[in-house]
Amino acid sequence: MQQKPDNTPVKRGANLLLQGATLTDLSCPVCSSPLFRLKDGTIWCAKDEKKVIIVKEGQQPPKQAAAPSTSYDKLEATLMAKIQEIQGKIEKTQDMDELQKLTYALTELLNSVDKIKQMKKA
Ligand SMILES: [Zn+2]
Repeated sequence: MQQKPDNTPVKRGANLLLQGATLTDLSCPVCSSPLFRLKDGTIWCAKDEKKVIIVKEGQQPPKQAAAPSTSYDKLEATLMAKIQEIQGKIEKTQDMDELQKLTYALTELLNSVDKIKQMKKA
């Protein structure tokens, strides 16, 4: 069974960003997908399509606290910065053609972040 292209977790994530949500550096405790912060402050998992309660927001999770920053972390940080950059451009652009390209890039970046989070979990 193939998912409808418009209803994949990554697409849903991209749509959230288009609606003004922001990508957080948190990952879902259930599926380790990147989590989004909606405009009202809700932390949302695009994969599970549900609200996630983060108990200690703003604090590093205790697990692996002593581990040094890995190349995955660096890569993830770079991708997150790019996503925010693209999100800023999407907000400003009036050009439908550009919007389509930006949305595509956003989707690809979200896919990559998702993969990195899965790899970090493994
Ligand atoms: Zn999840």
